[in-house]
Amino acid sequence: MRVLALLDGTIVDPQTPLFRADDLGVMRGDGIFETILVADRQPRELGPHLDRLERSAGLMQLRLPERAAWERATQAVIDNWPWDTDPQMALKLVCTRGIDGGDGTPNGFAMGMQIGADTLRKRSEGVAAVTLERGYAPDLKERAPWLLLSAKTLSYAVNMAAMREAEARGADEVIFTATDGSVLEGPTSTVVIAQGRTLLTTPPSAGILEGTTQGALFRAAEKAGWQTEIEKFPVSALFDSDGVWLASSVRLVTQVRSIDRTEIKADADLHAEINRLYESNY
Ligand code: PLP
Repeated sequence: MRVLALLDGTIVDPQTPLFRADDLGVMRGDGIFETILVADRQPRELGPHLDRLERSAGLMQLRLPERAAWERATQAVIDNWPWDTDPQMALKLVCTRGIDGGDGTPNGFAMGMQIGADTLRKRSEGVAAVTLERGYAPDLKERAPWLLLSAKTLSYAVNMAAMREAEARGADEVIFTATDGSVLEGPTSTVVIAQGRTLLTTPPSAGILEGTTQGALFRAAEKAGWQTEIEKFPVSALFDSDGVWLASSVRLVTQVRSIDRTEIKADADLHAEINRLYESNY
């Protein structure tokens, strides 16, 4: 199931070709995107997602269509989604730099998609993760802004290759590590750990994407009296913690059950509490 909208809010057949072969998004992955969960017609964290789209565009020096265009396309997809049969959808917002050699006019669309069986399984069963090197230092972002660390670009080939490596090792997910051995993020998720009544995640200054799901979880946790910390932590903390989760918009807050084939603490009650906290936002 796909519902596709242009930025003027027009719904088009999802099989319509939208991009020319010389679009820079197609040729070089030169563009940005967001993936948003829409549950019962309500887009979750739409403001933070659109803020992040703008931040990514700023880092890429990409001319982004105005916010109202994204909101219009989002609403068009929501209005045309078959809610009776599918109460949740993944909404993708995509923007490319446009035609190679053109005037820099960006190309974009919004597309609603069904949530995959694999994602639903990860939500309900939890995941086995492996740690993989990402190959950069946590202070690189400041020194090398051209590497676009922390932008959500269309260039996810490395992230997808890491997921295939995890599968080859018999796991479901990846936790990337920096050259100093600290924890970064997953290829499509934010890492959150619990230490007692404190939730901890890696700072965006380390070159990771600022997670909207982690943000929503921490907002609710603070209201409920938890401590939250945004600080670098070593891989060893994953094994010593009271729980590890991978958070992202569509997968939600997924419990990690093992890391590098070693079982870690994965308490069912704590997982239920963390999920209740996240859901209390909506
Ligand atoms: N980190 C990366 C690299 C991601 O691609 C994503 C989402 O796809 C996240 C973190 C989680 O972000 P969010 O919770 O906003 O979906």
